[in-house]
Amino acid sequence: METLERDLKNMREYFKSGKTKEESWRESQLKGLRRFLMERQGDIFKALMQDLGKHQVESFRDEIGTLVKSLNLALKCLKDWMSSKKAQLPSIALLSSAQIVSEPLGLVLIISSWNLPFGLSLEPLIGAIAAGNTAVLKPSELSPTCSSLLASGLLTYLDNKAIKVIEGGPEESEKLLQQRWDKIFFTGSARVGRIVMSAAVKHLTPVTLELGGKCPAVLDSLSSSWDLEVAVKRIIVGKYGTCSGQARIAIDYVIVERSNCSKVVELMKMWIKKMFGDNPKHSKSIARIVNKQHLFRLKNLLTDKKVQKSVVCGGSVDEENLFVEPTILVNPPLDATIMTDEVFGPLLPIITVEKIEDSIEFISCRPKPLALYVFTKNQTLQKRMISETSSGSVVFNDAILQYAADSLPFGGVGESGFGMYHGKFSFDTFSHQKAIVRRSFFTDFWYRYPPWKPHKFQLLEVSYNLDYLGLVLAVLGLKRPSKRHLFP
Ligand code: NAD
Repeated sequence: METLERDLKNMREYFKSGKTKEESWRESQLKGLRRFLMERQGDIFKALMQDLGKHQVESFRDEIGTLVKSLNLALKCLKDWMSSKKAQLPSIALLSSAQIVSEPLGLVLIISSWNLPFGLSLEPLIGAIAAGNTAVLKPSELSPTCSSLLASGLLTYLDNKAIKVIEGGPEESEKLLQQRWDKIFFTGSARVGRIVMSAAVKHLTPVTLELGGKCPAVLDSLSSSWDLEVAVKRIIVGKYGTCSGQARIAIDYVIVERSNCSKVVELMKMWIKKMFGDNPKHSKSIARIVNKQHLFRLKNLLTDKKVQKSVVCGGSVDEENLFVEPTILVNPPLDATIMTDEVFGPLLPIITVEKIEDSIEFISCRPKPLALYVFTKNQTLQKRMISETSSGSVVFNDAILQYAADSLPFGGVGESGFGMYHGKFSFDTFSHQKAIVRRSFFTDFWYRYPPWKPHKFQLLEVSYNLDYLGLVLAVLGLKRPSKRHLFP
């Protein structure tokens, strides 16, 4: 941290040298990152177990596997992403050509969160490298083993003149935010997102904010028992099986029809038991709460007097082992903190409505979530959910799946953030799309120059309108009865 300003100056110089713009450099760094994930896989598993009690299968699914897949895609598509793209020009620009060139932004800052310590740090870094930037990564201090593995790992596998990891918490983060950056990519809470945005204002730095919010799941009264059971299993894993609900795209609460509620609760209880055993505290398949502060935050949500009688399953908290039991609550009051704040843990409120269509109003009058999950085969309901609600993504009949799709933009809207990444969207997020136009000297139309006269207006009008015959007639001083006018 003491040498921060000098280090950043050197990184800017390195960027200016053009090294990071070379395709071979980008490729070598992406391969370095992939080697880090493969060769240090065992250490990554251990670090995730140490900081979050995450099982290897979950760690591979959400972090290593997803990242290697993203790296393979970036390596495969790098040449194409870097290549300039032809663009059309209007007829007024006769004898011209145009291109869009993606250029790197320069020196970028990535601040990440603790719940997917590798995924949320390296997924944006892949985009920053592929786009040819120099980058500083600041992982979260709340997953310290993962943070220090990232710092030592990236030091060994990547070009340290261009990529650095700076460890620390809010203090270090604030120092970083005082510097000038060409882009800040932030993953975390809306509270800190606001701090990041106000720091970015000083240098008009572009920002991507990956925030959270309450992601609802709507469960329709599915007529087939197979479908209902599959839906319930997917909800259970989309909540408790995703870092024990400590994920911004984990299901926050479920909406069901009142008449269906008790059946759903019974099925949920059955599947919690099947997935995590009679005593989930001994299960290795459910992650632990990241620290005592978050554990007490969750405990407070549960011990809220207004909420206690809503608990129908689970509810125990083991402070020593940082464990909160998978818990279901039915109809906690809507003004209780569990229903106003993001839960970010293994507590699942179920809210009942008379008709499943009522869920649309429930969702649309609350802050826009990062993800909306709807379990239904009803095509009309699906269409209404898409058109009458707003969220970062909508998934029908599953949860979390969108995170693994490189072909889809991942990002929020409204309170859940702005900007997007994953796949080519990551490359674009860290690039400037530069417009290039090349014009020939061969033709030069006199009517584009002042002094302005009425017939020059006519000539301009026909040339904007792609009316070549009109243009010829206008040049000859003849007026053509025009069918196609710019201002009809
Ligand atoms: P957080 O906002 O507390 O911390 C995120 C990062 O900001 C960390 O690196 C932290 O060190 C840094 N930070 C903390 N205080 C700071 C300050 N005052 N100034 C500058 N930097 C500061 O969030 P968190 O606890 O890591 O994560 C929980 C929240 O993040 C939840 O709301 C969750 O929904 C959201 N989240 C969103 C995504 C997403 O992809 N959209 C992913 C993970 C978490």
